[in-house]
Amino acid sequence: MTNSGTNLGNVRDLYQQVILERYKKPKFKGVTDPIDRYQKGHNPSCGDTIELTLQLDEAQATIIAAKFDGEGCAIALSSADLMAEALRGKTVTEALEMIEGFQGMMRGDFEFPHELRKLNVLKGVSQFPVRIKCANLVWHTLRAALQSPGAVVSNEAE
Ligand code: ZN
Repeated sequence: MTNSGTNLGNVRDLYQQVILERYKKPKFKGVTDPIDRYQKGHNPSCGDTIELTLQLDEAQATIIAAKFDGEGCAIALSSADLMAEALRGKTVTEALEMIEGFQGMMRGDFEFPHELRKLNVLKGVSQFPVRIKCANLVWHTLRAALQSPGAVVSNEAE
């Protein structure tokens, strides 16, 4: 039998690999066409800036595509890339639930179900309070894009 401590180490390494891979080679960087929602978010504590664009269906109820642009650390940008991937085909209601879920994961009391398990690679960030803002930035930005588009999101006061 394998040593569980070793397995945990491997899983952690794997998660770090995914984060770095998404940071270096994002799959969802860019701008949607058309742009149905645009939202900018800024995290002053780290300097992360994200511009999020969404393409919605005609009823404005389902997210067809999400893309992001901007500059930031590996945690902020990998979170954006993983979020953009997970949002495809989700309803606005489902997206808002995912925001709650992600913030719960950053508090250490939630894990995404199998369908959304890729997002769990960021779970370890919950143990680093300084980086939680980085991981949450794009999710804050998404909430504003869906609920009150236009204003620049800043999580300075968080
Ligand atoms: Zn950051």
